[in-house]
Amino acid sequence: AKLEGRGGSRMFKSDMGSQVRARRLFDRDLRQAIACGEFQLVYQPQTTIGSGTIVGFEALLRWRHPERGDIPPAMFIPVAEDSGSIVQIGEWALQEACREAAQWTQALSVSVNVSAVQLHHLAFAKLVRDVLEQTRLSPDRLELEITETALIRDLDRALWTLRQLQALGVRIAMDDFGTGYSSLSTLRAFSFDKIKIDRSLVRSVDSNEQAAAIVRAVLGLGRGLGLPVLAEGVETTEELAFLKQECCDEAQGYLIGRPLPIEAYEHIVRLADVS
Ligand code: C2E
Ligand code: CA
Ligand code: CA
Ligand code: CA
Repeated sequence: AKLEGRGGSRMFKSDMGSQVRARRLFDRDLRQAIACGEFQLVYQPQTTIGSGTIVGFEALLRWRHPERGDIPPAMFIPVAEDSGSIVQIGEWALQEACREAAQWTQALSVSVNVSAVQLHHLAFAKLVRDVLEQTRLSPDRLELEITETALIRDLDRALWTLRQLQALGVRIAMDDFGTGYSSLSTLRAFSFDKIKIDRSLVRSVDSNEQAAAIVRAVLGLGRGLGLPVLAEGVETTEELAFLKQECCDEAQGYLIGRPLPIEAYEHIVRLADVS
């Protein structure tokens, strides 16, 4: 048993070493992926709940790895945040989303996720201004989705950047609401333009009284603050019916539309012929 213990711990150490190496290699691949054109954005529609009209699309990153196949963002974004390569990847995503949205003939909005690391980068507001200028996308068509955890590290600096972004005419949505712990104080510290309720809460509204009560409370909060609320991850007609009954403003989820390359929604955005 003793020998096994020693061997076990040696193995654990070399496992750690190879994990670190694997992570480094993975990050090197990540950095090359932009240059190699391996990233793609897919778009998921966001609709009003009352009439079901599409008001915008959320841009979601996909990594089409030549050998490993599709790697989901949950697997590579944390690595990219750790190493800092999220700054370049996020810049690519912002640029690409604005470039594509500028070609839509309907003035629908595009929502782009912004990681904490990007937000705390000093030049982030300038980057957004430059991208809007280059792509000629009207600022009121861009929405940036920020999670609460993005604000925790250095609240003052984050708020300063968010105010600069709002001054450009860009909207700021609070993402994943209901999963953090400082939601209420953050809502007081900054005037967000929208609240997005996380899908972990939405998923359970029709089966779990606690989840339903929390979603009702968030909707009340939105009304009180004069903020529209979007429910994400809507998968069933029961969930949608609940949200409609509770006067939620907007919805997003597989029931309404999956995240797909923008061409799949061509009939909605009627891509302009730019040739
Ligand atoms: P998120 O911002 O909460 O995005 C919503 C996620 O829920 C997406 O996962 C979407 O595909 C998924 N989803 C939407 N509707 C449904 C539904 O009805 N049921 C279920 N089960 N899932 C649904 P995805 O695309 O895998 O992205 C995961 C997360 O990765 C995102 O969560 C976001 O935090 C992050 N992410 C994605 N793209 C970017 C990006 O460009 N930049 C940054 N910083 N983060 C990104
Ligand atoms: Ca999001
Ligand atoms: Ca979420
Ligand atoms: Ca459900």
